[in-house]
Amino acid sequence: MKFEKLFDNFYKIYIAGLKKNIYLDSETNFWAYAGENEEKEVFNLFKDVRDELLDEMNKHRFEVKIRTIYLNVTDRCNANCPYCYIPYERRKNGRTMSKDELEKWLNYFSEIGVEWIIFHGAEPMIAKDLVFEAIDNYSELNFGIQTNGFLLNEEDLNFIIHKKVNLGISFDSPDKRVEDFLRGRGHYDKIMKILELAKGYERLSVITTINSYNYTQLEKIVDILVGKVQVLLMNMVRGTQENGRSMRINAAEHFIKAVEKSINYTKNGKRIVIGDFANYLLGILAPSARVLQCDVSPCGAGRRFLALTTDGFYPCSEFIGLKEFRYNGDLHTAIEKFKRVRERVVEKIDICRECPIRNICGSPCPAEVYSETGSLFSPSPSCEYYKKVIEHAFRVIVRGDYKYVLKMENLKEKFSIC
Ligand code: SF4
Ligand code: SF4
Repeated sequence: MKFEKLFDNFYKIYIAGLKKNIYLDSETNFWAYAGENEEKEVFNLFKDVRDELLDEMNKHRFEVKIRTIYLNVTDRCNANCPYCYIPYERRKNGRTMSKDELEKWLNYFSEIGVEWIIFHGAEPMIAKDLVFEAIDNYSELNFGIQTNGFLLNEEDLNFIIHKKVNLGISFDSPDKRVEDFLRGRGHYDKIMKILELAKGYERLSVITTINSYNYTQLEKIVDILVGKVQVLLMNMVRGTQENGRSMRINAAEHFIKAVEKSINYTKNGKRIVIGDFANYLLGILAPSARVLQCDVSPCGAGRRFLALTTDGFYPCSEFIGLKEFRYNGDLHTAIEKFKRVRERVVEKIDICRECPIRNICGSPCPAEVYSETGSLFSPSPSCEYYKKVIEHAFRVIVRGDYKYVLKMENLKEKFSIC
């Protein structure tokens, strides 16, 4: 990424393929697409709106309000994905919450105003009865389930759909051999069946972990999922465990092809959105409307959500396995204890401090960099990937195709000079 610092946090960025420059203030994410002869007008407009934008950005970045709990009702998993962030021993021999234990927590979360409970990995469907009974009994809470899908049957899906539960399913490859290698034997067929049964369910999403085995197949994943699901998350593999580190790859080129594929399908009436890319577009167009939290700095860990497991709270599930980030007590003290994660902001990370896109990228992930380097203040190992993808986000905005990714009716226009 080629850029020039003009003053304070204000940069001029040159992006291949664009006729004009991008002007970006990295503190507020104020931006403009303009030629050098329009610079003065851009600076004047920025001066007028800076304070308001900064207030909004600071609120979005630093407000601590736990809306969601990722609840690992069991430590165990019936698969053995090579890049999993939960230590093997825990997944094999860990324990499952009792009904009393789960109810005690859910009563507490209801009382203090938590809005969402996401039953999360390890594999929540191992404790299916417990999970479904909770969904049945706590209508005041909103629920989601993130599952590998192996244990889901038709009856379960009917229940999930009837109860309007958000359902996220893991799927990594359109090639059956790769899918079964990464996710376990029989996974490809199982997911195809689930997608058929749940076709049209608007709360269904698919999560793909991008890694060295599937990165060339991202476009084909879009092909295979279009018409079956509308939201697809494509997350870069995290190196919180050694295996994950060995599967990292710079997949920017293939990710961008997948983005283009999804935009073309959507243009032609078959909507499919790559959620991670949509979040970058929001980071530029409407920063405080971002839904995913990994690219906000500090990220959502211990700020917007917490993970609760059988042995206590962690700032995010990605920290399970890092015992020094565990707190076994009440939620409010947990939030205090996790302050050190919230202190990891891009301004404190050496190479990010002078990066124009630092508040679009966020330099994730604290758990990943801490486990690898022993410091929360190391930069993201996927820096080059984020740079390429965010450059592309500007291209998509300039050519006007952002409206095929974002639902514009959900956003309110505030300032427009593009
Ligand atoms: S960046 Fe890492 S710790 Fe933060 S929300 Fe994302 S996965 Fe969790
Ligand atoms: S990780 Fe790279 S792209 Fe992201 S903020 Fe840091 S320097 Fe910028």
